[in-house]
Amino acid sequence: MLDPLISVVVPVYNEEGLIDTLLKRCLAALESITPAFELICVDDGSRDQTLPRLLAARATEPRLKVLVLSRNFGHQSAYTAGLHAAKGQYVAMMDGDLQDPPELLPRMYEMLRTNECDIAYGQRTDRAEGWGRQLLIKSFHGIFSNFSRLKQSDNVGNFSMLNRKALDAFLSLHEKNRYLPGLRAFIGFRQLPVAYARQARHDGTLPKMSYKRLFALALDALFSFSDLPIKICLYTGLFGMIVFLLGGIWVLISKALGVAPFGWSSLELSIYFIGSIQLLFLGVLGEYVFRIYRENQNRPIYFIQDYHDE
Ligand code: UDP
Ligand code: MG
Repeated sequence: MLDPLISVVVPVYNEEGLIDTLLKRCLAALESITPAFELICVDDGSRDQTLPRLLAARATEPRLKVLVLSRNFGHQSAYTAGLHAAKGQYVAMMDGDLQDPPELLPRMYEMLRTNECDIAYGQRTDRAEGWGRQLLIKSFHGIFSNFSRLKQSDNVGNFSMLNRKALDAFLSLHEKNRYLPGLRAFIGFRQLPVAYARQARHDGTLPKMSYKRLFALALDALFSFSDLPIKICLYTGLFGMIVFLLGGIWVLISKALGVAPFGWSSLELSIYFIGSIQLLFLGVLGEYVFRIYRENQNRPIYFIQDYHDE
């Protein structure tokens, strides 16, 4: 088979209810661009009917390829696996829950084909998600763009299309902590947004990314793209030093003047305070050490069980 012009990488994890609509909309959008495409669905260790459904659809549509990971690795790793397998000149990343509309792919492709940019990325103008989730995501983006020194616009996720040049640069980043939108901003090249309204998950079910996993992803992003955690320690330490210096001077003066010294409550409080700050900062240091350790172990980000591609 000739190398495809376009590859679209879609990670799916327990999405049995969505597969049929997903494939229908995706294939229609791709067909409208070119017949030379491949749609790579990465099954990230699903335990429901996702994989059998994908394989059944593949029987009639050979351009649908199914990359099966050996277990659930999380969606950033699933994307990475799919990107490594992609052969197209233009390669897109798209969530499998139809929150990223496949109908935008032709527009992204057009921008790359006419050489308007090297990377076209979706930018959400509107989100149909719960307000609590929206608020958290918003504050994360605010913190991230302020502290990472990366020009990443707000409201940007994985949804994007890259040309070969940009993708090769992207894939040359081998770190284990993978926050893909950050890595994409890091490589540079000419990047342009495509605005769209983010839909709710198509089948209305809860996101597969729990709050716990979103939080972990946010920490990954902050630790690997900014020095914010270290800065917080530094400035709190500095602030504490000034406060205790002033306090110390006050204690000495009051001692000299013969005013009664502070009682045990102020002593207790400052011991608690210093103790807890030290523990917190030890934790931050520990986090860095752990991350260095993990990079050093150099374990692969994913393992492939099967690749149904020919
Ligand atoms: N996903 C995955 N592995 C996981 C969690 C999610 O491949 O461990 C897929 C999921 O099937 C979906 C996409 O990643 O296609 C985005 O997940 P979700 O909608 O839960 O996240 P959010 O929209 O909140 O970023
Ligand atoms: Mg989603």
